[in-house]
Amino acid sequence: MIRLRPLAVLIFSFALTGFSVPPPSMAETSKTAALMPNVYMVTRDAPEHSNSSFFVTEEGVVVIDTGDGPTQAEALLKDIRAVTDKPVRYILNTHYHGENSFGNQVFKPLGTLITQKRTWKFLGGPDGEEYLQAWKEQGRGDADRVSITLPSLTFDERIDLLMKPFRLKVMYFGRGHTEGDIAIYVKELRLLISGGLITHNCFPDMADSYIDEWMSALIEMENLDVETLIPGEGPVGGRPAMIQMKHFFIILKREVMKNLEAGQSLIETQEAVYPILAGKYSHWKGKDRIKGIIKRAYLEFSLKKKI
Ligand SMILES: [Zn+2]
Repeated sequence: MIRLRPLAVLIFSFALTGFSVPPPSMAETSKTAALMPNVYMVTRDAPEHSNSSFFVTEEGVVVIDTGDGPTQAEALLKDIRAVTDKPVRYILNTHYHGENSFGNQVFKPLGTLITQKRTWKFLGGPDGEEYLQAWKEQGRGDADRVSITLPSLTFDERIDLLMKPFRLKVMYFGRGHTEGDIAIYVKELRLLISGGLITHNCFPDMADSYIDEWMSALIEMENLDVETLIPGEGPVGGRPAMIQMKHFFIILKREVMKNLEAGQSLIETQEAVYPILAGKYSHWKGKDRIKGIIKRAYLEFSLKKKI
């Protein structure tokens, strides 16, 4: 159980105290609220946008995910400044997707930008420029204002940020939602910030995912003592949201494998599995992602089947 006041109540109470201050252009897509003392979650409309979060510590601010471009990043910084004038010390990207890293240029001048090594390699190589170009062509976010901004610190598996009174354990579990996903865990708060590894009541974007490894990452995260989850997309959750995500993958894999074993084509598999996922998760957002999800699973498991 999450012993939290409902988000809407928190947002309302902040409105009364002058907080919750998205600029007019962001009013419908961005809400900032304190989940617990000095821990803030920024919720944007899933599935088009990812969540951000920030910690206000005795030693400064730690920001997690910078938004999908300078506009979201500037709004995030404004919300941070509404609660503290402490310096931004560290900025983390949970992975390289534009929703999480394209606001970096606003934050990097303020503190140390950290990513997992594979996220840095992707953003810093030809893939990163190609990816941004695709965003520009699709007119996503404010991609025309984005210049890819790389970290000044990278790591392989673990890094701890010791920011009184918090110890933020930044962890890499292997490939999953992308090649370089990280999650942030604060044991004393029983808080997990999952990045793209967990979406809540929302189908995940799996265009560049590794399903078996993702499932392993979920099992590792399940071993953590978690009460509160800030997911990559969707509302605040807890352990049930983590378990729900794992079950989603179990069903996806089982149904796609069943079709593969029967020699079904990709299209036949999509036709068979779509109604199962859309029906079981009828309350989830992002149903336009389902066909792509099945395709990714079909490709991954058909390749493995041949080995
Ligand atoms: Zn993502």
